[in-house]
Amino acid sequence: MTAGGPAGPPPAWFSHELCFWHDPGAGSGHLPVGPGVEPLRQFAVDPDLRRAEGLVRLSGVLDRFTRHTPAPAPDADLLLVHTRAHVDRVEATSARGGDAGVYAPAGHHSAAAARLAVGACTAAVREVLAGGHRRAYCLVRPPGHHAEPDRAMGLCLFNNLAVATRVAQRNGARRVLVVDLDVHHGNGLQRVFWEDPDVCYVSLHQDGLFPPASGTAAETGSGAGAGTTVNVPLPAGTGHGGYLAAMESVVVPAARAFAPDLVLVAAGLDAGAHDPMGRMMATSRTFHSVVTSLCELADELCAGRIVLAHEGGYSAWYQPTLLLAVAAAVAGLPAPDDPFLHSLENLPGQRVAAHQRRVLDHLRTHHPLLSAAAVAS
Ligand code: ZN
Repeated sequence: MTAGGPAGPPPAWFSHELCFWHDPGAGSGHLPVGPGVEPLRQFAVDPDLRRAEGLVRLSGVLDRFTRHTPAPAPDADLLLVHTRAHVDRVEATSARGGDAGVYAPAGHHSAAAARLAVGACTAAVREVLAGGHRRAYCLVRPPGHHAEPDRAMGLCLFNNLAVATRVAQRNGARRVLVVDLDVHHGNGLQRVFWEDPDVCYVSLHQDGLFPPASGTAAETGSGAGAGTTVNVPLPAGTGHGGYLAAMESVVVPAARAFAPDLVLVAAGLDAGAHDPMGRMMATSRTFHSVVTSLCELADELCAGRIVLAHEGGYSAWYQPTLLLAVAAAVAGLPAPDDPFLHSLENLPGQRVAAHQRRVLDHLRTHHPLLSAAAVAS
């Protein structure tokens, strides 16, 4: 890969206006209006996503992509992961407004947006596996990684990347690596693939954030899938150095040990230093470095095939800059200017700390996938 962009066809960009219309109603933060909750806005309201795409367009980086407009995912795709009752519940809740599960508010356009989010990810996977593109980015909402087969959770209605993984496996990619960068743990992705030896789920998340008690280092899969779940519960306050160390000492060796046919990335931006939902210190440089590494891993391991999908990301002012950094990395461009960077880089927490290193060392020596790789090398 060169600074001018990856060899081969241009990367693909999937987005749909209706994903930006997803609006579960009046609320504040992650709660609807109620006793003690004054109306402001819910995090799941996403005009910010349109603003973020606007910055990518203004920078010229979007011109490096081929634009695609996704179609809604049909029931046949949703039912590869979800139960019929779950799909019906999401549709019904969306029609009347309310909570479709656990902290999963839905409103008038939500079910349609959720089907488009899945449809973007499945279309991207099909394009990449057919050779039309090597890399793809899906700017979608609602997010997906908390959604379980029978339960909506944490702003997620359908599990976008879980469905995309099953579609990939029906289109020639037997072994799929799913790397989750969202600051929360992707309990839905973990649950779907818990016993699947052909899907490796690797999650970098803030230790103990959400869901409660989910995503510990001891959760490594079971049955035929034993050893193919890799949780990296990073301590709150982890910044640029900690994320790069996690990539180098856990994600890269886990990916090489697993040897995927396709890489999918749950590209949440809520580990960003200004995010109201997380307590991490990642910057645009962090996301650019991590996504560049993942693209290079895909180049090395599976002919460059990689699909990234947006998940969380709730800082009104910093998310656009983070998205621009991710888009630049996917396009093979250098890290873009970041007017916020100087102040963040001068805060404590950007260098890897001993208590963060201990988590990585523990995984390297105890996780079945990593300790086996260490013995083999
Ligand atoms: Zn999140």
